Amino acid sequence: MGITDFFRPVDAQFDGGESEGAQISPSPQTLEAVPVPDASGSDPNPSPPRDAREAWRPEREAREAFGTLGGAPPSDVSRRRARGAAHDLQYDEWAQPKRGRNFVLREFREKTRGAGAPMAGCVVHFPAGLTPHVPQKITMSRILTALTKSQNALIESPTGTGKSLALLCSALAWQETKRAEVKVANERVAERNAAKTLAFEEACARRRHARAKEANEKDSIGRSRGAPASDDGAGARADAALARELDEALAEHNEKEKQKAFSLDTFSNDENEPRGARARDEKVSFTLGRPDGLVVPKLADPDDDVSVHVIKNEPHLSDSVPEREPFASEFAPIAPPALERPQSVPKIYLCSRTHSQLHQLMRELKRTPYAPRYAVLGSRKQYCPIGKNDEECAELTKNKNRGETACGWYNKKDAVVEELRRARVWDMEDLANVAKSHLGCQYYAMRALHKNAELILCPYNYVFDENIRAALEIDLTGAAVIIDEGHNVEDVCRDGASMEISVTELEDTASQLGSVAKFLDDADVAARLMRPLKDWVNRSLAESSSHASKSSKSSFKRFNGFSGPVEAAHGEALWKGDDVATAIARALAPRTLAGSREKKSGGARGDASAAVALARSIVADASRVTAFDGALVREISQNGNTFGLNAITTCHRVCAALLAALDAPAEFAACVSADLSRAGETDQKTSSTSFGAGDREKEKTEKNAAGLALWCLRPAVSFRPVAAAARCVVVTSGTLSPMGSLEGELGVSFPVKVEAPHVVPSRQIHVEASDVLGDFTAKAQDADGTPRALGQFLLRYLSRNVIPGGVLVFLPKYSLIRRVIERWRDDGTLAAIEKHKTVVWEEPGAQTLTPTLETFRRSIDSGDKKGGVFLAVYRGKVSEGLDFKDANARAVFCVGIPFPAVGDVKVRLKKEYNSSAYARSERMLPGGDWYAHQAFRAYNQALGRCVRHLHDYAAIFLVDARFARHADADRNKSMVSKWMRHLVRVFASPRESVGTLEEFFRGLEADPPGGGGAGGEPAGG
Ligand code: SF4
Repeated sequence: MGITDFFRPVDAQFDGGESEGAQISPSPQTLEAVPVPDASGSDPNPSPPRDAREAWRPEREAREAFGTLGGAPPSDVSRRRARGAAHDLQYDEWAQPKRGRNFVLREFREKTRGAGAPMAGCVVHFPAGLTPHVPQKITMSRILTALTKSQNALIESPTGTGKSLALLCSALAWQETKRAEVKVANERVAERNAAKTLAFEEACARRRHARAKEANEKDSIGRSRGAPASDDGAGARADAALARELDEALAEHNEKEKQKAFSLDTFSNDENEPRGARARDEKVSFTLGRPDGLVVPKLADPDDDVSVHVIKNEPHLSDSVPEREPFASEFAPIAPPALERPQSVPKIYLCSRTHSQLHQLMRELKRTPYAPRYAVLGSRKQYCPIGKNDEECAELTKNKNRGETACGWYNKKDAVVEELRRARVWDMEDLANVAKSHLGCQYYAMRALHKNAELILCPYNYVFDENIRAALEIDLTGAAVIIDEGHNVEDVCRDGASMEISVTELEDTASQLGSVAKFLDDADVAARLMRPLKDWVNRSLAESSSHASKSSKSSFKRFNGFSGPVEAAHGEALWKGDDVATAIARALAPRTLAGSREKKSGGARGDASAAVALARSIVADASRVTAFDGALVREISQNGNTFGLNAITTCHRVCAALLAALDAPAEFAACVSADLSRAGETDQKTSSTSFGAGDREKEKTEKNAAGLALWCLRPAVSFRPVAAAARCVVVTSGTLSPMGSLEGELGVSFPVKVEAPHVVPSRQIHVEASDVLGDFTAKAQDADGTPRALGQFLLRYLSRNVIPGGVLVFLPKYSLIRRVIERWRDDGTLAAIEKHKTVVWEEPGAQTLTPTLETFRRSIDSGDKKGGVFLAVYRGKVSEGLDFKDANARAVFCVGIPFPAVGDVKVRLKKEYNSSAYARSERMLPGGDWYAHQAFRAYNQALGRCVRHLHDYAAIFLVDARFARHADADRNKSMVSKWMRHLVRVFASPRESVGTLEEFFRGLEADPPGGGGAGGEPAGG
């Protein structure tokens, strides 16, 4: 409900309500006059006398008010409005002062630019006062090459070299050049189309003239034979009718095009004007002759006065031609001109791993001299100001296609959109402020901005997950996709094609689809997939459970060891390679599969391909009917319903994974497990077969744990379709090496590859390998004395106040951090460290991160400059998503090497897959090497949290004997980031180490880099 609705007569507003049984009784308040706002929207009477509004101050309970106000019997419209009102009251909207157009952000003003630097056919502008340094120039030139030549690129640029700024400036410079080219090209297209249209209209005019002439001749012949002459003449009537029909046809098609206002946007230079409006005002004559509406002459019909017939929305012209005599030679049909579509400016999808990295990119974007139209896509979880999940939001906004919804924030999303368009340049803080000020929904504001955005920022799983792409209407056709922080692109792509679903979800989905199928036939197509799938999963669980109970656990342990082929663990079923397709066929086409087997056993040649093909067609049908923009979803939602939508979404997700697995079974493994979270572990519980007996709670928990998994083993499954649709994909990160292996995993070629050098001089980096904790393997991590040894090692430097500012300590797992803190508390190490630095640590989940970071940063910025110690995990938010420049990280201790969990069945399957002959032929790394690279990518990310710009400096400690005096030390050192591997030193004694470090910091404090230390060149990347 909007502010203006508030001033409607009360009985019109509140004649119904959310509360089903609300009793509405007449009230004297409803009889009083309610002032009407002036046109500006400001309050005409700031402190009204006792009127109806007094009854609706927020301190009053909404439902109580519903119970006391009277009104007419509820109509549909007013009931909806009242639901919105109740919702608004809930969020205290009326406590806010009423406002007109109070903008929070400044209106956009064109930024002044310098001359810019010509590069690869574009002119690149950098923020005023900044000159790009060598790694930035290398990055920009490679990105421009990739964009202009439409080639995929891998760009490795060390963290802290200003990579983000470089990629933004180069990509936007390229887009600006393309915009100018497209404008010129479209002007030519407009000229050509106008000429064709003119020729067509002239031909039509000639035809009219000829037809009229013929009619007049017929008239005069008739008169000469004694027939009465008509008053106005058939020719004139034909002429008028023809002209009218032509005009109507043109008007109708032009109106259709106005609504679409598709890529005609590109014709305008005025960036401040709303795009739709520009399109409406310009070039509408392009619409004539588009394939969806044709104006063609009708076949000669002796009984008609006119010779033109309008055929609307008929895809096949030939189908619409009446079966009559051949064309009269004199009046053969005039073919409508084939008009060219105008080109559009290619979009750029700029993706990063996390939202906090996207926020950093937006801050950099604000610094650039470019102002593209952009949007930042996120989830409801991230954006919804009232904390609603997808289902709750769908319920609240179910009327969105029919007017006002029950979510007041949704109803005001347009105000947010308008202000962001007006400001043009904004970041996430601005967005939050605008949304708060207008009480408008950020999530839907971003969806609205996305439609016309030229630059779209989003996490990169949005691009690689087909379901998210469809849900958010992400169209990558012809777009440039740039992946920042792309070192995790392999994992994200594998996850994007994988799927896990519990037995509970399977059953709920099948049951909901069954209910919807009673009313809508299409739902039955989806139910025909989900029902047998659910039954098969339950059957497989029962079979594996009974098999497990007959066998001893020890025999499964033998199969499930960490060496040799990966086999199903106790009580689960596992399929790999072609068996994945056969397993799906067994679920969906069991009779066809059984038939093919019988044939085979009877001597005839038989295989599972018929059953697999049948299964595929069942899945493809279900996928079609459950599409996000499909008829089934439309039919349900256009009636304002939400029941069944979740089941349809789930079914579509399952279909996507099943189709991918059926198309490329060699790239997948399938598993049915009684506990998916512990799949592959030998000691997991077995399911209670069909979940038929036992207490309900236990049954529910087991059903939630048990389920089906389809694990994708090759990122190419998700990456290839993106690369095929997009103009090019550019992957950038500080740690992409080895690039050959990455190329093999992603399954496409990357003609552009570059490793940019670091910018920081070696005197600003101290790198030391220490064996104080020995080989920090999983066994050593669990050793009793590890926490104390780590504490004593840190105190070696901290007790002498050698290290200024912040210290980051990375450990392999959260459980180790917890154990270290507990032991430090008990043995006094924590108190000893806290005399010198404030100690904070990372917890799983995002909730505690912000306050922890604030505590850490306060310790650094405080007057005594005490600084802090931050214990964090590899692959966590701190190690991969945050920037600790200058005093925030003067030392980083990387403890151990973060190898992926060797017991994780997915890791074992991937290692096995990579060691296969097929993977080798596709240039993927062997399993063992892949495993090591996974560890060192995470390691190098953690190392790169410090030394974030040209004038930054820090000490880095590699705390593991495997980097020091060890047979594999050289090989391990060769895996750390190139920019620092040659600086690694090992000291003979603690005293030597402390002394060297003291000297390092003293020297830099006496002679700070850049003459001042902090600030300097742009950070990022
Ligand atoms: S996401 Fe937006 S529309 Fe949905 S519930 Fe939240 S505020 Fe309302």
